[in-house]
Formats: sequence, C-alpha cells, structure tokens
Amino acid sequence: MYCYRHPDTETALRCGNCDRPICVRCVVQHPVGIRCPECARPTKIPVLDVTPAYYARAVAAAVGIGAVGVVGLILINALLMPLGPLAFYLRWLALVGVGYIMGHGVSLAVNRKRGRGLQWIAGVAVVVVCLVVAPFVGLSLNDLFGLVALAIAGYVAVMPLRI
Ligand SMILES: [Zn+2]
Ligand SMILES: [Zn+2]
Repeated sequence: MYCYRHPDTETALRCGNCDRPICVRCVVQHPVGIRCPECARPTKIPVLDVTPAYYARAVAAAVGIGAVGVVGLILINALLMPLGPLAFYLRWLALVGVGYIMGHGVSLAVNRKRGRGLQWIAGVAVVVVCLVVAPFVGLSLNDLFGLVALAIAGYVAVMPLRI
C-alpha cells in the first residue's frame, strides 16, 4: 500500500473515515482513530462561516446601533436628571440595555451567524459607546458599579454571537 498523498511512501495505515492509505507523515490523530488530513479537517458549519461581507454588515450595524445608543443614553440621562441619586443606577442600567440591543442587532445583521470576530465587534462597540457617552452624562468608570455595569453590558452584547 502507498500513501495517497505520497505515492512513493509505503504504509500499512488507512484513514478511519475514507479508508485511503496514509503514511505516518499524513496521519492525524483523532478521538475516534486516525484520519487523513482531508477527513480531519473540520467541516465548516454554516452558522460559523462568517465571510468578510458579514463582518462588514456587523461593523455597519455596530456603528449604527452605537450612534443611536450614544444619543439615546444622553437623552435618557437628561430625562433621569430629576431622579437624583437613582438616576446614577438607571443610567448604567440603560447602558446594559444598549449592550442587549447591540448584541441582538449585530446578530440580526449577520443572519444570526456567530463567531469570535463578531463578538469582538459587538463588545468593542459597547465599550466605545460607554467611553463616548461618559463625559456627556457624568459617568465614571472609576467606580466599581460602573465597571460591573460595563461588564454586564459587554456580556449581553457578545452572548447572541457566542460560538
Ligand atoms: Zn480520509
Ligand atoms: Zn503521506
């Protein structure tokens, strides 16, 4: 028997999936036996197959939702002003809301595809929204509550895009 990829290399091994002879150089260890490099390659799952066009759509959605989020948070802050100390917490809650909309908005824009890159886009967008909006609404990331809220906002933003 000769390796199907190296016709001059003799071998006694066969791929456990396609049964083609493979030499030791080509063997890929697999939980269920040995595989040739072709069979070992994970098949692409459509929902995880994110093409550049989808990344472009994700970025466009993130920028759009981010811009609306910034304006929305500034408006909400103005409306909350009369509430005094309570407004402090509600503003952070509003940021979590923006994170939620960001995650689902980006997810919708990419046909519910998922991926680490998409998570980064949504996550970074939420952080950028927070940083842009902070000086306008008097938010400070120096307090623990703010950091926790930002972490939750980021978490709900990346959840719908998680693999
Ligand atoms: Zn094979
Ligand atoms: Zn080979």
